[in-house]
Amino acid sequence: MKIVVLSGAGISAESGLKTFRDHDGLWEGYNVYEVATPEAWQANPEKVQEFYNMRRKAVLEAEPNRAHYLLKDMEQLADVHIITQNIDNLHERAGSRKVLHLHGEITKARSSARHDLLYAMDGWELKMGQLCELGSQLRPHVVWFGEAVPAMDEAEEITAEADVLVVVGTSLQVYPAAGLVHCVRPGTQVYCVDPAASEYSKQSNVIHIPEKAGTGLQKVYDALRTLI
Ligand code: NAD
Repeated sequence: MKIVVLSGAGISAESGLKTFRDHDGLWEGYNVYEVATPEAWQANPEKVQEFYNMRRKAVLEAEPNRAHYLLKDMEQLADVHIITQNIDNLHERAGSRKVLHLHGEITKARSSARHDLLYAMDGWELKMGQLCELGSQLRPHVVWFGEAVPAMDEAEEITAEADVLVVVGTSLQVYPAAGLVHCVRPGTQVYCVDPAASEYSKQSNVIHIPEKAGTGLQKVYDALRTLI
């Protein structure tokens, strides 16, 4: 059996990393469009670097929570593929083996000239003046609003093979990632774990579990264990 998980910022909320839909479009006090767009990078790269340096520091200081560990434990039940919109590395640090990042990974730096030139980072700080091997400024390895999502094709293929889809901690407001839920085959069992209801969670093929990620995923885990 193949379980596909689509995770969003809500799964890391209990690790102390803030979502932004819960804060009127603000992410840690910043308007996301002023720090997470190519235009922002053109206009004020120092501010963008500073924002992501702070996010990277917070990620390095955070720990995976019960929800991340439950997804790792699900690998004992089935073939689990996690597709995450998160740029943190908490799924990996909990031990999940198959993690696809749709929006990049904050613990890596990327050439601003070539998107496939990636560099692992040691610490939290990426400075202006740090260059790739081609001589261009390094930027955070994240997908900004308005940029292409290179991992979408692979994510769609994985989702189309799901026997069970688990959607957790995402407002499903950010496209194209949100469109993935429509890639499942008809009849696929879907669980949606989120304290807030959405148009999607009200659909008849979706079991909405209106809980925080840890408690909600425990319920999904228990339900799947009786099925498998
Ligand atoms: P979002 O902020 O739009 O939505 C968060 C969702 O999580 C909401 O539906 C909310 O009800 C739910 N939620 C809040 N607390 C929860 C909890 N304890 N348990 C379960 N659900 C909870 O986030 P999104 O849908 O992921 O999309 C926004 C974008 O923000 C993504 O592209 C992502 O890259 C970026 N982001 C990432 C991080 C991270 O990497 N940790 C943090 C903030 C934002």
